Amino acid sequence: MKRLYAIFGDPVAHSRSPLMHNYTFSKLGVDACYTRVHLKDGSKLREVFFALNLDGANVTLPHKEAAFAACDEVRGFASQIGVVNTLINEKGKLIGYNTDADGFEFSIDMFKNIEKVLILGAGGTAKALALKLSKRLNVSLLNRSKSRLEQFKKLGFTTSTWSDFEPQRYDLIVNTTSAGLGDEDLPAPIEILKPLLVDASLAVDVIYAKDTPFLKLCKDVGTESIGGEGMLLGQGVLASVLFCKEQFAAQEIESVMVKSFEL
Ligand code: NDP
Repeated sequence: MKRLYAIFGDPVAHSRSPLMHNYTFSKLGVDACYTRVHLKDGSKLREVFFALNLDGANVTLPHKEAAFAACDEVRGFASQIGVVNTLINEKGKLIGYNTDADGFEFSIDMFKNIEKVLILGAGGTAKALALKLSKRLNVSLLNRSKSRLEQFKKLGFTTSTWSDFEPQRYDLIVNTTSAGLGDEDLPAPIEILKPLLVDASLAVDVIYAKDTPFLKLCKDVGTESIGGEGMLLGQGVLASVLFCKEQFAAQEIESVMVKSFEL
């Protein structure tokens, strides 16, 4: 029987995941298809997943923490961070994984000499990246508001809001906020961002397929910058390994999935 996969999010219309996964399934001869589900209420995720009889799913903003709560079992890095972006239906049990952080590392792998990182935002993606990168790099966080920063503070990270931020030099600035996704907002006030970007050697916006205000500002000040396509590919490859029941190696899936970016 044809297997069915989906991405849950709000908004979700912009997602490239259906294209990436459907292309990969068809090229690898996997009898499966992948669709989008616009879900407003994250607490309904589990109910909708099983009502649609899905074999697996990806979860995007703002439901990654709700996805963690919806699982019967959470495996690997996702269990450390409480954030799930990939769901697998294992004989009626919902199993959660997180492939975002490994996907991000994959995208910055070629850049050397990065030691100090400033993450803009304090949501699910920020948490995944902060915990992963802090294993080898010095990571701080800057967020618009205070409440989501509390969990990072408890974990020992240096955290600031826009009002108490004390500038210093960072090698890498990463925008993990959704500012710029459906609007033209910068992830922090320009007075804070501009000097940080001038000093940084690399900036990454995890938003993909859009020349965001953050990326435009990087270009204006001459800082090397990349969008979220590399991370998208990396997390998609690792999710696909799970969707294809580990029948194909990550490198084999990557060599196929990367071609979906040319479509
Ligand atoms: P969350 O909803 O968990 O967190 C959103 C964060 O953005 C919060 O820190 C919030 O701040 C901040 N924020 C929202 N709007 C603004 C604004 N106008 N100005 C400043 N800060 C703002 O989102 P996720 O972590 O799940 O996703 C974040 C982004 O990452 C999305 O754009 C998503 O598409 C992208 N993404 C890309 C991936 C890829 O593969 N390339 C993979 C995963 C995510 P506050 O706490 O103050 O509300």
